[in-house]
Amino acid sequence: MKKLLTFAFILATPVLGLAQKSKPDAATLLRDVKVLAADSMQGRLSGTEGNLMAQEYLLKRFQDLGLKPFGDTYKQHFRIDSRRAQVEQATNLIGYIPGKSDKVIVVTAHYDHVGQRNGDIYNGADDNASGVGALLAAAAHFTKHPPKHTIIFAALDGEELGLQGAKAFLDNPPVPLANILLNVNMDMLSINNKGELYASGAYHYPQLKPYLQKVKPRKHARLLLGHDNPAQGRDDWTGQSDHFRFHERGIPYVYFGVEDHPHYHKPSDDYENINPNFYPDAAALVIDFLELMDNHLHRLPARAQ
Ligand SMILES: [Zn+2]
Repeated sequence: MKKLLTFAFILATPVLGLAQKSKPDAATLLRDVKVLAADSMQGRLSGTEGNLMAQEYLLKRFQDLGLKPFGDTYKQHFRIDSRRAQVEQATNLIGYIPGKSDKVIVVTAHYDHVGQRNGDIYNGADDNASGVGALLAAAAHFTKHPPKHTIIFAALDGEELGLQGAKAFLDNPPVPLANILLNVNMDMLSINNKGELYASGAYHYPQLKPYLQKVKPRKHARLLLGHDNPAQGRDDWTGQSDHFRFHERGIPYVYFGVEDHPHYHKPSDDYENINPNFYPDAAALVIDFLELMDNHLHRLPARAQ
């Protein structure tokens, strides 16, 4: 009998050790994108009224999800003073779910976009209301399935003005930088007619590759690896979004996003143009990867352990 039990345990263990298949709520994902990409948010440019409205919405979502703030607020204010722009007060929104360990995974998505130009509102539904919606879906998943690692969810400002929110986060991190084992950044998750979501970063951090390859395809979306080799020139996405600031500091990252499409940085990047089948499945792939990493990060060498 004892032998039998042992055998049953051995059989069951690998199953339990696998990531549970996440089921992000499609209706919630689509609603979040629709709200953030509404004309009333005026394109969410850093420092504008529309950006502030997006903040208000996200603060409410963070609260409702039960994310914990560091100190007494989710807000991290910072100044943008660059060649491209001056913004007196830009704002990252940062919440977390405590794990059993003080080692940290940082999930990021920028909520700002480029605002209005020549009377057109650039709603940025794909770029990057979609990434923020998926960040909220990941937070919802891990409130129901408590993680081993502490997971920080950071909706970042100022990406469109030069990855400024990620820089501010890392200049004044809410936890010691040495505790951050991984950044998972999402930027443009909702438009692709081939069902392809790219995971970029394994070229620099090959220890992550086996885990990315383990993420199973969903009905409407599957993961491809690439867009991270400097030899690819403009198709190398290493410097294209907030993950670059983590990479600069030697923190392993994976960036999830789609290839450019006709609505990229156009006034037509509207809610109506996102793909309502692909998007929830793309978000699910990212959450599956986060589950895998939460279970396996401790096995990785050097910093990513
Ligand atoms: Zn973007």
